[in-house]
Amino acid sequence: MKLQSEQDRLNYRNVWILAEFTPEGNVHGVSFELLGAARALADDLGCEVWAVALGCGLAPAAAALIRHGADKVVAVEDERFRGFNDELECNVLERLVRRFKPEILLGAATSKGRALIPRLASKLHTGLTADCTGLAIDPQTCELLQTRPAFGGNIMATIRSGGFRPQMATVRPKVMKALEADPGRTGSILWEAVDAADLVNIKQIIESVVESQGTVNLSDARIIVSGGRAMKGPEGFRLLDQLARRLGGAVGASRAAVDNGWIAYPHQVGQTGQTVQADLYIACGISGQIQHLIGMQSCKTIVAIDTDDTTPMMQMADIAVKGDLYEVIPAVIRELDRMGIDKGGTEK
Ligand code: FAD
Repeated sequence: MKLQSEQDRLNYRNVWILAEFTPEGNVHGVSFELLGAARALADDLGCEVWAVALGCGLAPAAAALIRHGADKVVAVEDERFRGFNDELECNVLERLVRRFKPEILLGAATSKGRALIPRLASKLHTGLTADCTGLAIDPQTCELLQTRPAFGGNIMATIRSGGFRPQMATVRPKVMKALEADPGRTGSILWEAVDAADLVNIKQIIESVVESQGTVNLSDARIIVSGGRAMKGPEGFRLLDQLARRLGGAVGASRAAVDNGWIAYPHQVGQTGQTVQADLYIACGISGQIQHLIGMQSCKTIVAIDTDDTTPMMQMADIAVKGDLYEVIPAVIRELDRMGIDKGGTEK
């Protein structure tokens, strides 16, 4: 919505996050991460964090959102939210935004967020920065600075919404840090319902498909063994699989390996793949182009194995092993076997 005056700008207040839920009805981890980001922004602005939750049986979720940083939860209970209906959710959110006028609205760059948030931004006639990797408040103007990679990741662009509100951004899972749950935190819950006007001209969902990424769950893996172009074929990934299994980890890949058809797309890490935040990331024959680094640079410990020690990955790694991965990895596997370490990881 275009700001009409300075007074109009002051009417917009508070930082909102749109909460998401797992198929089991628990709060999705990315919502806690959004709350962590929202909390920092709201503290800078001196305002509140509100979480908007659309679903059924929301009381436990609302309490969890408060424990993780929300001051207020707007909970809209309705059976129709059991399936995902972006038109209905968008109508409800549009009504709430027009009524309460949040200054900032953050959503997750999940499948649902990618369908819903642009639709909402368009209805509200405001800007949206997708896939932000950094969010901050400009100390001079109090505007939201939305940073994201641009031009294939070659530059980082910082974007403002100018004279439009709310300032909207999406963030990928695992990019922001969630706050620790504080059992003593208090907040309020505002219970809302679906309005008759929200139901006008919406499609009825008669069947839904649950998104599946096979057996790999890279975004939650604590240890990832990733391979790049140097793996040379699917058999190279079988070697990585042996190492990952012993460490109880999952196998990741660069886009070069995925594009060559050596491993399936759900394993891809990076700008057009998954963002991961593992405790240990072992990059095998991955040069570390910016599009790959974007997806794994928040991992706690990074080990790189490469014949060339000048690559960006070798330069940024905590431990850089210069050598042929076809010698290094079998040697590591032999050593793990000698030590009797086999966690039997099952994620390929
Ligand atoms: P290379 O850059 O070819 O690196 C191979 C490395 O293996 C080299 O460092 C080499 O020294 C080393 N090596 C060779 N032989 C051995 C050996 N025997 N032992 C040890 N080391 C060896 N890429 C991604 O990964 N994820 C993305 O999401 C992604 N999105 C992209 C989006 C866009 C819009 C664009 C333009 C590109 C994207 N890319 C992405 C591609 C990216 O730019 C790189 O091309 C890609 O990451 C390179 O993959 P690589 O590191 O495996 O290959």
